[in-house]
Amino acid sequence: MKKRGKIKVAFFDFTGCEGCQLNKLNLENQLLDILEHVDIVEFREAMDDKAEFYDIAFVEGSISTPECVNRINDIRRRSKVLVAIGACATNGGINSLKNIHDIDEVRETVYREHKYLFPTLPAMPLHAIVKVDYKIYGCPMTQEEFLKVFKSLVMGKKPQQPDYAVCVECKLKENECLLQRGIFCLGPVTRAGCGARCPSFGQSCIGCRGFVSNINQNASIEVLKRYGYSVEEAVKRMNMFNVTEMKM
Ligand code: SF4
Ligand code: SF4
Repeated sequence: MKKRGKIKVAFFDFTGCEGCQLNKLNLENQLLDILEHVDIVEFREAMDDKAEFYDIAFVEGSISTPECVNRINDIRRRSKVLVAIGACATNGGINSLKNIHDIDEVRETVYREHKYLFPTLPAMPLHAIVKVDYKIYGCPMTQEEFLKVFKSLVMGKKPQQPDYAVCVECKLKENECLLQRGIFCLGPVTRAGCGARCPSFGQSCIGCRGFVSNINQNASIEVLKRYGYSVEEAVKRMNMFNVTEMKM
């Protein structure tokens, strides 16, 4: 029987804070186990090597310049499986806050008289440009979820990810609901998978994993009103991570 070579894995980064990349580098012990089954062939933060093709490409960051568009198309062409990691790559993330402002004003504020040297586009998630096979949500993505998806792909399985609200995980942890304490929380409309990390420490969910796909908009507005919050307030808070997904 023909011996199967090691799986070629590459990591790439676009516009973002690189928190997701660092989260991976901090996985030293687990990565050593995985390295028995894969070859990491490109990873700018850890090595200089380059490769022509990749079995799996993990891509962080949003698309925000014409050069980014060319590079992500090239990465897609070379990759069998492309996985978007983190809020910027999966839904534009905080970068897309610039999309609600006049683009020339944004460039003027950041680059002043040099603004013509830096072409910029509205920040976009990867799926706005190329086909994305899987997404690992969150800002930053959690190490647990990254490992779960990575292991599934290495074993040739389809990764399973939750598509229900953070409130479900919060209730399972028997947390007291922050809304009842007068604290605004985006748990009812945010995709679970983080284990309700923030509410479990008394912090409100700020929606870093994007919207759950089956939001009941009317019910959400009713809940807001019941606790004395306006739709405008909700939209302002949802914008932090979800500009590209907002439909209101
Ligand atoms: S604290 Fe937030 S996440 Fe938890 S149940 Fe209340 S609204 Fe949902
Ligand atoms: S609770 Fe909300 S903001 Fe916190 S990690 Fe989970 S999805 Fe992100």
